[in-house]
Amino acid sequence: FNSTFSSLPTTIFEQMSLLAAKHQSTNLGQGFPDNELEGPESMKKVMISLYEHSNQYPPLMGLPELRQAVAAHSARHAGIPVDWQAETLVTVGATEALAAAFLGLLDAGDEVIFFEPLYDSYVPMARRAGAIPRIVQLYPPAWSIDAAELEAAFSPQTKLLVLNTPHNPTGKVFGAEELQLIADLCQKHDCLCLLDEVYEHLVFPGTRHTSLQSLPGMRERCLRVGWLSGPHDLLAAVTKAHQFLIFTVPSALQRAVAYGLEQEEAFCCGLGAALSKKRQLLEGQLAEIGFAVLPAQGTYFLVADFAGLLPAGSSEDDVQFCHRLTVEAGVTLIPVSAFYADRAATPRTLVRFVFCKTDEKLNTACGKLRTYF
Ligand code: GLN
Repeated sequence: FNSTFSSLPTTIFEQMSLLAAKHQSTNLGQGFPDNELEGPESMKKVMISLYEHSNQYPPLMGLPELRQAVAAHSARHAGIPVDWQAETLVTVGATEALAAAFLGLLDAGDEVIFFEPLYDSYVPMARRAGAIPRIVQLYPPAWSIDAAELEAAFSPQTKLLVLNTPHNPTGKVFGAEELQLIADLCQKHDCLCLLDEVYEHLVFPGTRHTSLQSLPGMRERCLRVGWLSGPHDLLAAVTKAHQFLIFTVPSALQRAVAYGLEQEEAFCCGLGAALSKKRQLLEGQLAEIGFAVLPAQGTYFLVADFAGLLPAGSSEDDVQFCHRLTVEAGVTLIPVSAFYADRAATPRTLVRFVFCKTDEKLNTACGKLRTYF
């Protein structure tokens, strides 16, 4: 069969979770929550009970009850009024929302600005849509932007800027000045914004998440991802891609999420404080073991530098380190280089831990690492 296929890679989350399963390691790699953070019990019960009566195709753009709940959530939390009929689209999680947005908004030759490190689906999917990535670095330890570098990334071909805040993998929450800089540049260059705000509730006490969409002049050029919400002309373009990707999302799931958004406000609002405690638990132990932990203001991700744990003269990189730790220490992490498309900028000694896990599991992982090192 004399043909090549698409160059899409296998996501690092699948690679590392398969490796974790093979070696039965403690998996602090892929970001999926354990029991207590998995979602309210009542919401799961609603989903199960609704299943019998929700077994038919819902409308393409989603069930009205969920779209209304999404609009109400946006008004309540981001202070952004949303017309549920014109401005909301229910997607299967953020990864489908992102793919549909790239396929629906971009044409061949359009340029897209990304901040790096970045979620691993962005660049491959934007490229499959024919677009050209323009990558701007976030510099550790605070993951700060160089304003001149950002400005230089814009060109007459810039169609879209993608902003992920709170940010995966760093846990950075973009501040007011940074958001204003981005808003000014997007308006100056008449560019659209795709806002990946899936971790909007995962912000530690003392920090606030602000949506770029809430800044003056930004509402008409921003689509927010979790589900998708934003101006009708942009959403209509993305809906065309969504219809051919998945058509629609299973009804029982939609009904359960609608219930959750309306009835489980306390669960959402408590996540930031709960996660902050878990981060402290993990951070303290990692520092004792010899990791240098980088600062963060949100999410359930922690980035740490392992250079201090390598034998003198070792040139082991993050991918090799994560492999060794899974096999020899029984703990699985994600190499931060997986969040880089720009090889020249890739750090070699950073790893990502997730801490949306039971305290017991976090302690087990740290115990294993302490014994190993
Ligand atoms: N967003 C989560 C992470 O970064 C999950 C990714 C995934 O499972 N596709 O780990």
